[in-house]
Amino acid sequence: MVGAGIWGTSLALRLAESGWRVTLIEQYAPGHLRQASAGETRLLSCSHGHDDWYARMAWKARDGWRRLGERAGEEVFLETGVMLFARQEHGWEAASTQVLKNLDIPFEVLDPADAGRAFPDFRGDDLSFVLREPRSGVLRARRATQLTARLAQAAGVTMVRAEARPAPGGGVRVDGETRTADRVVWACGAWLPALFDLPLTVTRQDTLHFDAPAAWASIPAYAEYDSSAYGHGDLDGLGMKATSDVEGPPYDPATGTRQILPASETLARDYLRRRFPALAAAPVLFSQVCQYALTADAEWIIAQVRAGEWVLGGDSGHGFKHAPALADYLADILDGSAEPDPRFGLHPRSATRGLRTSGQTG
Ligand SMILES: Cc1cc2nc3c(=O)[nH]c(=O)nc-3n(C[C@H](O)[C@H](O)[C@H](O)COP(=O)(O)OP(=O)(O)OC[C@H]3O[C@@H](n4cnc5c(N)ncnc54)[C@H](O)[C@@H]3O)c2cc1C
Repeated sequence: MVGAGIWGTSLALRLAESGWRVTLIEQYAPGHLRQASAGETRLLSCSHGHDDWYARMAWKARDGWRRLGERAGEEVFLETGVMLFARQEHGWEAASTQVLKNLDIPFEVLDPADAGRAFPDFRGDDLSFVLREPRSGVLRARRATQLTARLAQAAGVTMVRAEARPAPGGGVRVDGETRTADRVVWACGAWLPALFDLPLTVTRQDTLHFDAPAAWASIPAYAEYDSSAYGHGDLDGLGMKATSDVEGPPYDPATGTRQILPASETLARDYLRRRFPALAAAPVLFSQVCQYALTADAEWIIAQVRAGEWVLGGDSGHGFKHAPALADYLADILDGSAEPDPRFGLHPRSATRGLRTSGQTG
């Protein structure tokens, strides 16, 4: 396995616990700040518009995160609830409610004025309704990645710190040697386009946390599809997250600067001014630069690129929360007892929106 982000570490842990001998090659340390999984926090909500596959996966993964927290002795999933602000009556959120209902995933539909009481200051006069997922919440993402790596090692996974390349003819080239295995998985996030010819676009994504008064600490997480904005309360003193989900400019995860752009702060602040006006001038407390590895339709890539060699990528900005459930799904594929859904293949994809919580493409 190559890549110790949350996808690689979760799969390595799952495979080692079912009897596989696993070597996990990572060029830096698990949880290093260049990887997408090292965002301090990630949202877990089950709404994916019309799609039920990812909704089911997120709901299943929620149990996985709770189990991980129990095993590690640290809470990685916080059930803050997630509110999805719907501007259209029959838009993305309405489609999501239908799926949540079919899957028996708890939710309620709130009047914007009622939903607004969960926030110290809220303007919802342009909203049609608010979809609340009471059992969803926020993941301590970077910490969860480190803990998953630690549990994987305890389960027998051998960690190797090195940069790997596809060896000509198959296998993995590491430190001048070619290593072979029954299965090789390249879970290399935004680095994948440098390794294989894949239909992936890597974009820069700046996230911001604001210094909000104490009353904002316990707000629910929130997202607004039609404004491509999301955030949550102050977790671990990082400040209130309020950030844009609009796809940013092209980015190189290895060499790109990790200083946020002034335009990203403007975008986040514009949203605060509109939805939470009391915070429009709040100082920035913390920021991170990260990257999306996007496919055109935001469906992931799970595909065999050479005999016994799989590429796992194209998370499209909604991959973290699913990791424990995705690892179960992949384990069946790797042992040959299941085939990946054709949606994850290397066929040409058409540009569609709806899987991410972002209705805008930038
Ligand atoms: C700003 C932002 C917000 C997000 N919000 C959410 C959210 O709210 N909810 C959600 O579920 N998801 C969210 N995501 C997406 C989520 O973070 C990703 O889907 C997930 O972290 C992807 O994990 P990964 O393991 O595939 O990739 P990564 O975490 O990037 O890991 C890939 C690893 O592969 C290693 N690697 C690459 N090439 C090599 C090589 N040649 N040799 C050795 N090692 C190599 C890299 O060093 C890296 O550690 C967000 C992403 C961003 C950027």
